[in-house]
Amino acid sequence: MRGRFSPKGMTEVEEMETRGVRSAVDLRSDTVTRPSQEMRRAMMSAEVGDDVYGEDPTVNRLELRAAEIFQRAAALFVPSGTMANQIAVHLHTEPGQEVVCESRTHLFNLEMGMAAAFSGVQLRPVATETGRLTWGAVEPALRLADPYNKARTGLVVVENTHNWAGGVVVPPAVTRDLMRELRQRNVACHLDGARIFNAATALGLPVTELTAGFDSLMFCLSKGLGAPVGSLLVGEKEFIHRARVVRKMLGGGMRQAGILAAAGLVALEKGPQRLAEDHDNARYLAQGLSTMAGVRIDPAMVETNIVVFDLSESEFDAPHVVAKLSERNVLANALDPAHVRLVTHCDVDRTRCEEALFALRAVLERE
Ligand SMILES: *Cc1c(COP(=O)(O)O)cnc(C)c1O
Repeated sequence: MRGRFSPKGMTEVEEMETRGVRSAVDLRSDTVTRPSQEMRRAMMSAEVGDDVYGEDPTVNRLELRAAEIFQRAAALFVPSGTMANQIAVHLHTEPGQEVVCESRTHLFNLEMGMAAAFSGVQLRPVATETGRLTWGAVEPALRLADPYNKARTGLVVVENTHNWAGGVVVPPAVTRDLMRELRQRNVACHLDGARIFNAATALGLPVTELTAGFDSLMFCLSKGLGAPVGSLLVGEKEFIHRARVVRKMLGGGMRQAGILAAAGLVALEKGPQRLAEDHDNARYLAQGLSTMAGVRIDPAMVETNIVVFDLSESEFDAPHVVAKLSERNVLANALDPAHVRLVTHCDVDRTRCEEALFALRAVLERE
């Protein structure tokens, strides 16, 4: 029933809200956002063609616009961020090689072992305190000097913002340093920039400042930017040409995908400018949480739209807190027994964050 239009032109969710039936405060992820009316209108009137033939004008427009924003030669529209990352791993490596990434990354934890299954590479996770992958952390993990015993490092993947590390921003000085060293050693570097616009917003810099120099990068339209589906893989012309072939291998060749790209274009043009509001709301949640019993969080460390708080000193574990919150109509995710994650987005305003804090206090202090 979600998202269907009523005769009044409201979605059923909106109609429920006007009748006083409140939907949950859904802080599980920024993927839960529903397309805006502007997106739905754009989808309705999108010009389409068969994108596997390269004939969907709206997909072509989205790809060109993404390449332009990142000042790269080309871009490819793919169904998910996972597919974008896996295409990049496939193209930058050979079977039997290693890929170095931070230990809490999406690539290592949430992509179903696909790097091994599809590309025949093994991941070498590097644990860091903050989630920021520095050259100092990467250097000892590289395997370049012993080609007869050790699997050679073929690729390093940087995640910015770093999701499970609490949405932390990796500053350009850190990645520039890393890339300079990798280039000297002929090791490729891919950016998992699922939330790169959040990072750019937090730093007050254009995305190009954070992405220049990477061999390839991906970002998601379907996270904070608010689109229903889709990500873009961005890079050089030859790389994107080969990526298009791998996308087809993975079953990611979509036909009249302009329907989705139309929403993606709205997300790309309008999404970034409102992310600061999500960041303010995340900091507001963190400030409230920092005053609650058993919670460890430093609001100053909350830089973007993700709040990860530590319950190792609480009498409750994370799954318990998440279950109790859901009884109070607030949805969150437990990352592990001691950590809960809250993610702010365009469908959760300040009032709903106040409701979430009220429920959190009730669960953490009175139950
Ligand atoms: C969400 C996400 C992805 C990929 O997401 P899909 O759900 O496959 O679109 C990749 N990396 C990070 C850091 C993410 O948060």
